[in-house]
Amino acid sequence: MASTPSNSTPAPTAPAAGYTREPVWDPRRWLPTTREEVEARGWDQLDVIIVSGDAYVDHPAFGTAVIGRMLEAEGLRVAIIAQPNWRDDLRDFKKLGVPRLFFGVTGGCMDSMVNRYTAAKKLRSEDAYTPGGEHGFRPDYATTVYSKILKELFPEVPVMIGGIEASLRRVTHYDYWSDTTKPSILADSGADLLVYGMGELPLKETVRLLKQGVPFASLKTIPQTAVLLPPGATAPKNKHWDDFTLHSHEECLADRGLYAKNFKDIETESNRVKARRLLQPTGDRLLVVNPPFPTMEEREIDAAFDLPYTRLPHPKYRKRGPIPAYEMIKHSINMHRGCFGGCSFCTISAHQGKFVASRSKESILREVESIKQMPDFRGTISDLGGPSANMYKMKGKEQWICDECIRPSCIWPDVCRNLDTDHTALLDIYKSVRETEGVKHAFVTSGIRYDLFLHDKGASPQAKASHERYVDELAQHHVSGRLKVAPEHTSDHVLRVMRKPTFDLFYKFKAKFDRAAKRAGKEQMQIIPYFISSHPGSRPEDMAELALKTKDLGFRLEQVQDFTPTPMTVATEIYATGVHPYDSQPVCVARTPEEKQEQRSFFFWYKPEMKAALRASMQRLGLGDMAARLLDGRKKTTDVTPPPHITPCSQHAQQPGRRLAAALGKPHAAPGREASPRPSSRHEKSSVARPPHPASPKSGDEKKPHPFQRFFRGDKGAR
Ligand code: SF4
Repeated sequence: MASTPSNSTPAPTAPAAGYTREPVWDPRRWLPTTREEVEARGWDQLDVIIVSGDAYVDHPAFGTAVIGRMLEAEGLRVAIIAQPNWRDDLRDFKKLGVPRLFFGVTGGCMDSMVNRYTAAKKLRSEDAYTPGGEHGFRPDYATTVYSKILKELFPEVPVMIGGIEASLRRVTHYDYWSDTTKPSILADSGADLLVYGMGELPLKETVRLLKQGVPFASLKTIPQTAVLLPPGATAPKNKHWDDFTLHSHEECLADRGLYAKNFKDIETESNRVKARRLLQPTGDRLLVVNPPFPTMEEREIDAAFDLPYTRLPHPKYRKRGPIPAYEMIKHSINMHRGCFGGCSFCTISAHQGKFVASRSKESILREVESIKQMPDFRGTISDLGGPSANMYKMKGKEQWICDECIRPSCIWPDVCRNLDTDHTALLDIYKSVRETEGVKHAFVTSGIRYDLFLHDKGASPQAKASHERYVDELAQHHVSGRLKVAPEHTSDHVLRVMRKPTFDLFYKFKAKFDRAAKRAGKEQMQIIPYFISSHPGSRPEDMAELALKTKDLGFRLEQVQDFTPTPMTVATEIYATGVHPYDSQPVCVARTPEEKQEQRSFFFWYKPEMKAALRASMQRLGLGDMAARLLDGRKKTTDVTPPPHITPCSQHAQQPGRRLAAALGKPHAAPGREASPRPSSRHEKSSVARPPHPASPKSGDEKKPHPFQRFFRGDKGAR
């Protein structure tokens, strides 16, 4: 493989910006996807070929397009193989030949397993990133499957993996779908280099070094990348970085305590301004995870959004039906990246970072102009948002304090006094967008964090004034009729595990928003709250409380989901180990399908077909009085405080280590010791005394259908 990239200029056919109102379906305006399209650009060989689990949508919300366009802007000849067939003679992988520099592989915008399966491990009703929502166009564990194929077909060509699937599987991680603990995806996939987080800066640095003639195999010190060194090799010296050695993959498999500790250390490093380099022995090799680049500056993030996207799916999909994810976001604008919320179940800060990178107002307004040119734009910007809608431009007031900080969240357990929660810059953008000629509506449909404007501690007078204005302007101009917020639960002890604010704040927010809606003459506007069932810490009686509290508020919940343990979140580590990684204390976890279905069923207390099963559950839990209040048709409940928690942790949660040991296919034992039937920790000791969960299947009746199963058959995944 040649290591010198082409210095040819991008194809002259690439559009300068946006596209005309009349759609010109000229394939040369997209990055090439076939041999003919490569030749139409006058290229004989490609520099980089990107293989993706998603269909190719040339839009800044789709990672493949962003990376492809960015590499194109660097002067490289780039093509995309989208959703190749991995089950035939592999002609899709061979059709564009061999790239001069490397193959880039991504599973797509979502982890391929989250994309395909619901929390109940059933096939989702559609693949949102495939034309027509059709299934069958990507394999399970897509990044690994594609990389292995490429390594088999072209062993001499480097493979670089990236995207959320690679990013969140960069170290030893728990995989919910196989119920095993896996090593870094670098070990399974055979890839040469892993890029984690948002890929622009590490990719640019890679290209810079390759252009200088540095061989790909020597790229071991690029920030925000990871490599698995050959047996016997040690991490290259770097005077700028301190090292931190994690427990080895094998130690993690043998001891859930060490695995949990690893997670805490990884999360702590990923939340620091100046992270250390992570080293993890894996078999006879050493995994090296370099620290990330600093948070993108405005000009850097602008550059990623200002690339000449067509904002359309590739024309080849025209006859295959709409791509659901694209239809949802095609007229929306992402104003920033990153999130400092640190919610336990969320992967955003692990992938995009805790610190927020915001676009300039000019870049956002340029995108508004591009959207206005879209043939099907009728005047409505569907979302002016981001990972959380109202974190735009927010950061610490004193950077030196942030430089020393290791808090996983800037707003939990309370809003940091050093956080500047001024919404003025955001309100300024809202105003400019809604006053742009040709824009009739500019809605905010990303979830908002109400704790950011419902606090005053340490806020400047300008920030306080902006807090007051925010809800008013939101209600007056930017809500289409339904405003999404995510309290996620109502029980404070569950919310603590989730790292979310108390539910009392939701009451406060609702009252404030209702008043603002009334002032705006829009009393019909609704708040749509999101909730999660089966989150670690949540027990059936907590869900009963949730049902009562939301009934009392007049909600019939729709936007709900059952907890899915995705790699690299606190909640997933609790699910995997049964203990909280920060204090090693046991946390109750709903594990079996029956336990999960039971929790989820409380969302739907108002459905007649649910009542008998719910009543039986609540009777079993000793919540008979509560059942009457929830199910017997009274409009208003008065006291929604449930009796003390009585449900013990499930049997699995009481035997942490068993699941990890199962990954090894042998009994759980600490390294160097025989497996012992005796409990080896305080937690396990306590489990011996506890009775099994009443809802846990007993031996001999595993196949008996749970009463809720009929209702949830054909579950489509609510969110
Ligand atoms: S000091 Fe405060 S604002 Fe800065 S990173 Fe820490 S929690 Fe966030």
